[in-house]
Amino acid sequence: MSRYWSDVVHSLTPYVPGEQPKLSKLIKLNTNENPYPPSDAVLEAMRAQAAYSLRLYPDPNSDALKTAIADYHGLITAQVFVGNGSDEVLAHVFHALLKHDEPLLFPDITYSFYPVYCGLYGIEYQTIALTEDFQISVDDYLRPNGGIIFPNPNAPTSCALPLTEIERLLQANPDSVVVIDEAYVDFGCESAVQLVNRYPQLLVTHTLSKSRSLAGLRVGYAVGHADLIEALVRVKDSFNSYPLDRFAQAGAIAAMQDEAWFQQTRQRVITTREQLVSDLQALGFEALPSAANFIFVRHPSHDGAALAQQLRERSIIVRHFKNPARISAFLRITIGTDAECNALVHALRELVTS
Ligand code: PMP
Repeated sequence: MSRYWSDVVHSLTPYVPGEQPKLSKLIKLNTNENPYPPSDAVLEAMRAQAAYSLRLYPDPNSDALKTAIADYHGLITAQVFVGNGSDEVLAHVFHALLKHDEPLLFPDITYSFYPVYCGLYGIEYQTIALTEDFQISVDDYLRPNGGIIFPNPNAPTSCALPLTEIERLLQANPDSVVVIDEAYVDFGCESAVQLVNRYPQLLVTHTLSKSRSLAGLRVGYAVGHADLIEALVRVKDSFNSYPLDRFAQAGAIAAMQDEAWFQQTRQRVITTREQLVSDLQALGFEALPSAANFIFVRHPSHDGAALAQQLRERSIIVRHFKNPARISAFLRITIGTDAECNALVHALRELVTS
């Protein structure tokens, strides 16, 4: 291999996405998708695009979508940035906003894309250990000059930090960008969006992949002070990177506006989660307190990797992380339909009681 590109190959460690199996008979509880179809209004809006407008280019600025998101959160359009999934939004956030004089801080157990973006954009970072009980301790982030990012609730632990703690963090860090990645916030966690008008250094990212059931459409967004948003727009425009296509813009607008579907579906997922946790606790599993559409569980006398493998042999896929060692006993399980979760409990009962 040529020395020049082999340097790139060896210096970048790409993000490894969760498996997307090709067999449809599997019970797929490994990548935190929503088990229910999106709102009918989304499908209707996309059908209308197909009929009338696909010959036309999409709006490069997604203005109508930004307005729908701003209206939903009680903000103005200039406070909203949209991208192809929150992963793309985060890529622009790292590039535009997270290179400070001091290292960027994030937890040692968190979304594994963060160190990948740091590698890509040459950002120095420092990881902060979660506490004994896998929580983020704000006292470890009270530094004056480094940017900060973490998901709330955190992934893959599922644990949430109360808004009062986020506010304490913002008060202690007036000069550095604080990014709260709220990919899973709608499943029982307080959102920091209500703080963006008081803290100009706060940026909050959201996705339509989880609580709006649109992982396949690829829509995510960030909200914050208009200056932070403008920085993101300039970086994105400098790349001439892809606008959201017409389906994505139309579907996402309809999704943001169907409040009844949203409330009903997220409540359904939360109810199933509470039942699943209680069923697994009855089998001896320990679960971290979840505010997400997934749970993080371990069994005191069964190995996580072995359980994941044995479930796979029964056509049920969950997520297991070999590293870091502290979480290798755990399984991360996406909340599926009631029937899928019952099948999981049935399989685990056989595995841990036999
Ligand atoms: N943040 C976190 C914490 C996630 O787990 C995910 C999903 N893998 C994302 C962001 C990205 O989600 P999407 O690109 O589908 O919006």
